[in-house]
Amino acid sequence: MFQWLSQYNYDYALAAIPIQLILLLFYCFRKNLPIRSSYSFLGVMIANLAMTAFDLISCEMNEIWTEYPLWLMYLVNQGYFLGFIIRGWTLYDYTAVECNGYRALGKWVSYLTHIPALVAVLLILSTPWTATIFHFSPEKGYYNCEIYPIIYFCTYFYIAVSLLCVFLRWKHLDLRLKLSMLEYNMVLIAGILLRKQFINTLVTSYFSILAILFIYLSAQNPDLYRDKKTHLFNKDAFEKIGTEYLVSGTPFHCIVATIHNYMSAKNLYGHQQLSSCLDIFGQWLRRSFPGYYVFYFGNGDFLLFRKGRFEDDKENILRSMEEYFGHSWKSEDTEISLSISAMALPSHLFPKDIAKAVDFIAYIFTKAYVENRQGNVIVSEENLQRVSRLDMVETALSRALQEHSIEAYFQPIYSVREQRVTGAEALARFKDPELGCIPPQEFVRVAEHTGDILELGRQVFDRVCEFLETEQPNLLGLEKINVNLSPAQCMNDQLASELSAIAEKHNVSMEMIDFEITETSLENRLLLQKQMLRLQEKGARFSLDDFGAGTSNLVRLLNLPIHEVKLDISLVTSYFKGGSPMLPDLVRMFRNADMEIVAEGVETKEMAETLAEMGCNYEQGYYFSRPVPPKNFIAYLKKNTRHA
Ligand code: C2E
Ligand code: MG
Ligand code: MG
Repeated sequence: MFQWLSQYNYDYALAAIPIQLILLLFYCFRKNLPIRSSYSFLGVMIANLAMTAFDLISCEMNEIWTEYPLWLMYLVNQGYFLGFIIRGWTLYDYTAVECNGYRALGKWVSYLTHIPALVAVLLILSTPWTATIFHFSPEKGYYNCEIYPIIYFCTYFYIAVSLLCVFLRWKHLDLRLKLSMLEYNMVLIAGILLRKQFINTLVTSYFSILAILFIYLSAQNPDLYRDKKTHLFNKDAFEKIGTEYLVSGTPFHCIVATIHNYMSAKNLYGHQQLSSCLDIFGQWLRRSFPGYYVFYFGNGDFLLFRKGRFEDDKENILRSMEEYFGHSWKSEDTEISLSISAMALPSHLFPKDIAKAVDFIAYIFTKAYVENRQGNVIVSEENLQRVSRLDMVETALSRALQEHSIEAYFQPIYSVREQRVTGAEALARFKDPELGCIPPQEFVRVAEHTGDILELGRQVFDRVCEFLETEQPNLLGLEKINVNLSPAQCMNDQLASELSAIAEKHNVSMEMIDFEITETSLENRLLLQKQMLRLQEKGARFSLDDFGAGTSNLVRLLNLPIHEVKLDISLVTSYFKGGSPMLPDLVRMFRNADMEIVAEGVETKEMAETLAEMGCNYEQGYYFSRPVPPKNFIAYLKKNTRHA
């Protein structure tokens, strides 16, 4: 074995060096995020490598120090001490930046925290002249001087302030980051304690590399911030960069670009082909707009990001993207056509909170197509207001669901054959103390987005059952109540059991219930059919709502256990305005298929008569009544039965 000069055990330090080198090289080649925490982490790794290398070299050289010039001896030992101090200092800087600890400490306190390291660095640099940290004497060679303990003081101090930052920001940090920060600081403390125990073994660098590994694996692995398909930065990377810019108040702007009908394109061209096109487009963006960072958020959504405010280049960028998509693309063996919508997002419109900023961008992705069609290429204040409205509705709705304050209104459904009201549709109503009445179209969509739709559905159904139980409208001739089911509810495997339990709680028979589903629900057919069968077994029936509002697939429809089709308001209104001349044929076709037909949006006597003659079995609309609260609906039914 190699014969070392000093009595120190170098095994741990030697093992740490190749690990540190590999990590450092990998980190530099993979090019991490252009943010301060990455540079701090790079600083930690370089300082650690320098510290370890100089530690070994200086320990050996100090044994035969007379063989080297004195300036070289000072230089090598200074290298070790600088590496030691800078490693602890940059590690603290990394922690403070990553957890936003500087803000928690306050401006002045955070400035003060840098003083010990600065003093230590100055003392190390001046040591050859002042002999404050170490010295070489002709008799003893190397020895530690009086102020040497500042080295350890700095280490303890920076671990302590790092932990303080983590605790101050505790509530705001995600679990992974919190744990990693606690872990690497604990590892460093363990390293110091062990070093004190085994004074002749160089273990500090080994524990440093363990701490670095913790950071690398939990937050600094460049692959965490790359999209696998396009190799561009991903959404997490955007959140990190965006947070840093937002926290420091540095202006930036974005260009948001999204591929139309991404899901359909994926089905049409296949995953493989589409991925290769996304890759080509991503590389083109990087080449064409070198001043911008390019991100891929998934699902065909790209984002260009640049420091500073918009210059005049935004129109050019949008135009060249449009031209790029103007022709079909050839990848290795295929040619496919895609189209894109893009919008410029100015700096001043960014919400100050990164989570809100990401929501805002997600909203722009969904709206870009419609906005472009209307000639809008720059995101406006109005877009921002719409998002903050959605945000407010989201908060208000979750409060209302907690307080169980969502109401069910009822709109009569008139039977043409019996010439009286035999049914009703339950419609959710939500009045917020601050926002006022929020239309169901708006809050149902928000609820679908947040996942609150399941609870909303349960609460509306509970209101309906409560109404059936307490008011007993069946005694007034009411035969059924229609309840809307959103597609998201139909995906819930527990739907049938949850709804049955609610009905049982109120002693309501499911035979009184007619669930309205829309065509979007038919997409997950197997799950839907399972839920439908279970509810049917209990006596419930199903109607297809909003027929004619979207693209209707008749074949798919006729195969489902649906007894009734509700013609959408748009189809009915269009017929009376001279459009949709096929409406009578549609009605005939459904009747031939033994389906009942409800016409929605019946607003006048003339409409009611024409639709009845056409063969519609039921009619619903303002002509009969608007949706009304339960008490008013009972009053309506009483009047209705008297008339009948
Ligand atoms: P929908 O199920 O098609 O309900 C019919 C909508 O048409 C209701 O709007 C109703 O007020 C309106 N309407 C009825 N007659 C007329 C008329 O003569 N003229 C016009 N212009 N409109 C008429 P509303 O209450 O605003 O509900 C809108 C949509 O919100 C509903 O459409 C339904 O899709 C959804 N929705 C309402 N309540 C619920 C619910 O409890 N759960 C779910 N999942 N969706 C609901
Ligand atoms: Mg409906
Ligand atoms: Mg409808």
